[in-house]
Amino acid sequence: MNRPISRREALKNLALGAGTLLVARAAGAASTEPAKPPPATGPLPHLVPTDPLAVALSYHESAKTVEVAKFPTYKPDQKCGTCLQLTGKVGDPWRPCNLFPGKLVNAEGWCKVWVKKAPAA
Ligand code: SF4
Repeated sequence: MNRPISRREALKNLALGAGTLLVARAAGAASTEPAKPPPATGPLPHLVPTDPLAVALSYHESAKTVEVAKFPTYKPDQKCGTCLQLTGKVGDPWRPCNLFPGKLVNAEGWCKVWVKKAPAA
């Protein structure tokens, strides 16, 4: 009753066995891993000027409060709303900034790395 198996059958059985093993390992891993929290939803928190990175970049929630003597590069037309780093929807008062991931900055704010946004083409 023992018939020799062909090379093709041997490879097929090997592939089936490996597939079964992978499925079993995945199922085992899934049951032992702790449940991951659902992804965060809702609006991002506002950046506060006391945030360590905000302090490092001299972020101001309002560009009107920037002391020119302390920040000589500041010009009155500079604010987050005209900065290259600001993203999000034009007109929103709080928007994402590339330099402060996970937070929203005030469109009327300013920090010392402000870069003029190119006009829309
Ligand atoms: Fe505002 Fe630009 Fe500074 Fe971001 S990089 S906080 S948009 S001035």
